[in-house]
Amino acid sequence: MAGEPQDDCLFCKIVAGQIPATVVRETETTVAFRDINPQAPTHVLVIPKVHYRDVAALAAGAPEAAADVLRETQAVADEEKLDSYRVVFNTGTGAGQTVWHAHGHVLGGRGLEWPPG
Ligand code: IMP
Repeated sequence: MAGEPQDDCLFCKIVAGQIPATVVRETETTVAFRDINPQAPTHVLVIPKVHYRDVAALAAGAPEAAADVLRETQAVADEEKLDSYRVVFNTGTGAGQTVWHAHGHVLGGRGLEWPPG
């Protein structure tokens, strides 16, 4: 059920400490950890502890957690001392989403082209 931990969800397992991750920040409602396959010098994922399949479902089902995730992307950028950075929420297969637990990518530390490929 949306909002409940899912046994087959990689990021729920990271929240539960069942899979190791390089955690850079944690709050009551969020975890931020380094992406295992970084696409930039800083590439951190910010996730809500509650399980929603993507950011759209999160915003609809738990808007306060969605706001917490957004706030944490800013906190990560500050901690990583990023002047410029990009926050990406891939939503749906066609946009490249591969993990079905809402997450924001914080990317920085290099020039970022716009529009992205
Ligand atoms: P998506 O493609 O937007 O769904 O992003 C999923 C991200 O999760 C990708 O950038 C992966 O590299 C990353 N990822 C997958 N497994 C792990 C892990 O175990 N630890 C950290 N990042 C992961």
